[in-house]
Amino acid sequence: MSDPATHDEILAAAERIKANGETAPRPGRDPVNQPMINNWVEAIGDTDPRWRAGEAPPAMAQVWTMGGLHPKRDPDDPLHSMMTVLTDAGFTGVLGTNCEQEYARPLRVGEEVTVTTRLESVVGPKQTGVGEGYFVTTRNVWRVAHPDGRSEEVATMLFRVLKFVPREPAPDPGEFVLRPQQNRDTAYFWEGTQAGELRLQTCNACGALRHPPGPACPECGALDRGHVVASGRGTVFSYVVHRHPPVPGRELPILLVLIDLEEGVRMVGELVETDAEKIEIGMPVVVDFRRIDDDLTLPVWRKE
Ligand code: ZN
Repeated sequence: MSDPATHDEILAAAERIKANGETAPRPGRDPVNQPMINNWVEAIGDTDPRWRAGEAPPAMAQVWTMGGLHPKRDPDDPLHSMMTVLTDAGFTGVLGTNCEQEYARPLRVGEEVTVTTRLESVVGPKQTGVGEGYFVTTRNVWRVAHPDGRSEEVATMLFRVLKFVPREPAPDPGEFVLRPQQNRDTAYFWEGTQAGELRLQTCNACGALRHPPGPACPECGALDRGHVVASGRGTVFSYVVHRHPPVPGRELPILLVLIDLEEGVRMVGELVETDAEKIEIGMPVVVDFRRIDDDLTLPVWRKE
């Protein structure tokens, strides 16, 4: 348990930061623009013609106000201020736990977007699987200003992180596994990995393959679905090398790859037994299965 005096200081700092309310609206670097939309929809694989006709996908809201490679930090940024208080109090670990976005409407090319941030709550200390910590929740609001002076909310985001004291010694990898959600829609996939099969959902009406799994076919809308067994071969479409922050029970870096499967769908996975410096776009990879326990076998990827 943390020192009660420290706890009081943390909550007092939280109250001060909350009392400041919303930050001043920070404008995006560029107005909503077609080239950025093109890059985004290409990366996501979204071919909706609306995104070629003047509208931007609502899920891009955060894109328009990103700070670029060398962002200038707002000294009054509530999230940063609260993180500093907790880090200084010994809560040095950080894990993102929730992100909920709501969209009022798609943005349109040419619109200029601003973002504000406010601290919603700081809750703790809580005992968690990674150690004792505080949950810090902030809310971002994206707005468009109209010529008549009206300010329109176009999107909001609730963002929650856990700031924690990392447990010493670090938990054993077998003890701390991020478990995927298994439900009616995804059971076939996890039953497949246990059987040494990489399964892809298929639409029984039109035959389209899809991943990740979902209840309805994005091509034809049919609910009737089955699965096929993939070859387990693909190539690296893109990747991220996770070097920081630390992940409990894991050695860094972790290599996260987006695989183009031979069957024509993409799947996110972990590349193992490969140096971060040796990953290349287009590199052929093959699936393998890592048994965690009776309930979970994870697919992993190796260089072919
Ligand atoms: Zn279909």
